[in-house]
Amino acid sequence: MPPRRRLCVSSSLRLFVSSHPPGILALVTRAASQPKKPIAVDPNASRDTPAMRQYARFKQAHPGCVLFFRMGDFYEMFDEDALAVHKTLGLTLTERTPGVPMAGVPHHAVENYIARMLAQGHRVAVCDQIQDPKDAKGVVERAVTRVLTPGALVDEALLADDEANTLCAVWLDAELAHLAIVEVSTGAFEVGACAQGALADELARRAVSEVIYCETATGEAPSVVRDAVERLALPALGRPAWQFRRAESEEALREQFGVATLAGFGLAADDPAIPCAGAVVRYLRETQAPDHERARPGERALAHLKPPKREATGDRLVIDAVSLRALEVEQTIRSGAVQGSLLGVFNQHGGKRTPMGRRLLRDWLRRPLADRPAIEARQAGVRALHDDRTLAGAVQERTEQIQDVARIAGRLAVGRATPRDLVALGASLAQVEGLIEALDQCAPLATVRAQLTDAAERIRPLAREIEATCIDHPPAHLREGGLIRDGVDADLDEARTLRSDASAWLAAYQQRLIEEHDLPNLKVGYNRVFGYFIELPRAQSRRAPDAFSRRQTLKNAERYITPELKEFEDKVTTAESRAIEREQAIFARLCARCAKESAAIGAFAGAVAELDALACFAETARRRGWTAPTITDDPTLEILEGRHPVLDDLLGDRFVPNDLALGCADAPARLALITGPNMAGKSTYIRQAALLTLLAHTGSFIPAAKATIGVADRIFTRVGADDALHAGQSTFMVEMTETATILNNCTARSLVILDEIGRGTSTLDGLALAWAIAERLAGTAEAAGPRTLFATHYHELTGLEETMPACARNLHVQVREWGEEIVFLHRIARGRADRSYGVHVARLAGLPGATVARARDLLESLAVSHEGAPPKPAPAQSRPDPKPRDQLALFTEFVHHPAMDELKAIDLERLTPLEAFDALRRLREMLND
Ligand code: ADP
Repeated sequence: MPPRRRLCVSSSLRLFVSSHPPGILALVTRAASQPKKPIAVDPNASRDTPAMRQYARFKQAHPGCVLFFRMGDFYEMFDEDALAVHKTLGLTLTERTPGVPMAGVPHHAVENYIARMLAQGHRVAVCDQIQDPKDAKGVVERAVTRVLTPGALVDEALLADDEANTLCAVWLDAELAHLAIVEVSTGAFEVGACAQGALADELARRAVSEVIYCETATGEAPSVVRDAVERLALPALGRPAWQFRRAESEEALREQFGVATLAGFGLAADDPAIPCAGAVVRYLRETQAPDHERARPGERALAHLKPPKREATGDRLVIDAVSLRALEVEQTIRSGAVQGSLLGVFNQHGGKRTPMGRRLLRDWLRRPLADRPAIEARQAGVRALHDDRTLAGAVQERTEQIQDVARIAGRLAVGRATPRDLVALGASLAQVEGLIEALDQCAPLATVRAQLTDAAERIRPLAREIEATCIDHPPAHLREGGLIRDGVDADLDEARTLRSDASAWLAAYQQRLIEEHDLPNLKVGYNRVFGYFIELPRAQSRRAPDAFSRRQTLKNAERYITPELKEFEDKVTTAESRAIEREQAIFARLCARCAKESAAIGAFAGAVAELDALACFAETARRRGWTAPTITDDPTLEILEGRHPVLDDLLGDRFVPNDLALGCADAPARLALITGPNMAGKSTYIRQAALLTLLAHTGSFIPAAKATIGVADRIFTRVGADDALHAGQSTFMVEMTETATILNNCTARSLVILDEIGRGTSTLDGLALAWAIAERLAGTAEAAGPRTLFATHYHELTGLEETMPACARNLHVQVREWGEEIVFLHRIARGRADRSYGVHVARLAGLPGATVARARDLLESLAVSHEGAPPKPAPAQSRPDPKPRDQLALFTEFVHHPAMDELKAIDLERLTPLEAFDALRRLREMLND
């Protein structure tokens, strides 16, 4: 009897159905009062059945994986794995036998469950039945057919098409963290290194989804790795140290790429990237080409894996994880959505793009260039597509027809391509001619064109072969055939003819029997369970000839078979399975042929991605009216009428463009101190500067009338605490840690934006810290500091412009007073803001009137007491003054009010009583202004 399956379970009701054929077998209710015994793993419980022994073997072979074990129509999990899926997926636990927890999912829904397990950072090994249970003597043969890990996915359903999915192996030497990063879905492979303390930033910048590392002697993660993966909440797996040994690693790499030496890849024998590069390859071979797949003769597993490429230091503008998040490059901080981020602007205005182009664009935004000629070359490509709409149209027309060939190549290489993948690949590759033609005469895109031309030679025949072999709209799988065109294979055609001729033969046979035996009501038919049959009404069954042997008895009829019909049936059935087998063989051959051309397909995919991402930049620039910035090697930041890319999109004409000049001839200072009330637009302005700098480094146009942007090495931001990333630390601690990173790492080529430094502590501490930090960033005339935008409420800091005129410059956001109201102009102007308008803004925010009035009152008494005695606020009942007062600073020595200059200028010795009275009145007027 087939095993019983649980369909749904509530605490007191269990409903069981049999797996095959479907039907409810039993309804078991459990008295609600009966105490529930928690289900737990009992290591001593018996697991001594053939299936469980088989299970234990696979489980042992795939440590660290949750094993999905196929049993009939379900995938079952046992023991700890059952507890894990119970916790992660909410599946109900039962017991296979007492002490052996079990949970299961129906086979047809398994992908969805696997995806959810992966999203939670689990690894999954899928163990399938590889033998028809009918043929099994004893326990059915099984094998692990897939190992899925969060950073090494190839299945379309498990991947977001506009996001890379990468796996990173980390290996530490005495000073650096070495990385080998593979995107297995496309075969991209990079090696690099970073300071050990910057590992988390590096992993974030490269969008790593999973880490493998070299275990310490005690089988643990090195603390550097542990801290980084914990900070980013990444799944990480320790691998034995021998897998990172140089000799073993080199061997794995040589074998993978079929080379005698790695020198051709720029990896010298003592290259520190080798241990992690080898370890990552070994891990992928284990997970992507599991047990039975590895046996495919003559094929190299993971043939699409490209040789490792190294990102040279200084090639890219470094933006750390905190800044990427704070600048909302890929997603907003509040909701985590793409819409509302910088990437969202391109998604909305960049036109219809390929998944490959979208992934590359993300990478460009995360890792902009830091080399002027490279930026200019990319910008030239954007300009070509921006200026020439016919060219852009021709490219768009072609790229629209191109599917995700990079990932299809990945699935081909691990044997998981579908008929639809193959046909999509053929149709995509066929666009190569059109693209080459479209790019003819376009000098800035000559490199992309050359890459396409090189690849064309190898992919053209592939495209033709796929087109000639496969139908245009293939089925999702090959279980019933239906992919290969007629006329491709003689055997297949013959088998198909037999199948299609069957109805004609059956009609003729029926007619012959009717006539021969004078049985006018005789019918020849077919049903799935019993196969072909001859049917006679019960009344005529007595006249059935001897050659008819009974197959089935119905209420009003009898069914028979004859040797002739049986022979026909066998022929048709064999023809059918022969046709399917033939189709599968042709499909496999074609897939293998495509897999052999992985390199050419990869080159085509790379060129298309680049073209597509450039076109996205061009289209966005055209639709949003962006312009090309001039890129220079001088540390300059000069922007005319700059706009915030996201807010500009949102506010349209209401957005007020602003200028910025740092480190240029007219404004040599590199530090800008920005003051102004809350809500005036300080944060927007400084973030805008960072985003436009970032964009300029990607080669994109930017939202500004004109700009000259000097190449930067890093962008640092400190804008608002990021509690999620630094769980367990106080806001002030986070602020100071981030600021320390900036001060310790910024150079004269960096861009730093700081928002409200020093607010997490007492006013005096905060002011003192902000002051010291600003001074340090301002640099000196001899040793210039980074380009810095420093938004602050501490008006006292604006004194730096006087003490360090060559280094610091004051800017403020203008507001206009309108009676009791203030109007935010969002316009940046030279000089300092005279007041903070905090109470005004609080009133706008809807603070109760009485509280606002009381705050004004307090402000006044604080301001007065500040002149001498310690602050002594007036009692709460005092009448609120309807006129706002200046918010004076708390340090006497920092107060600067024109009235003081006036006061100092008075010559008391010569003042007449009348003049004294006049002076007094004038001073009071100044204070009330
Ligand atoms: P602050 O940092 O000074 O408190 P924000 O930069 O957060 O102010 O800006 C507050 C709001 O003002 C923004 O959400 C935006 O709606 C608006 N704003 C800021 N800058 C501009 C601008 N240049 N043009 C129009 N509106 C702006």
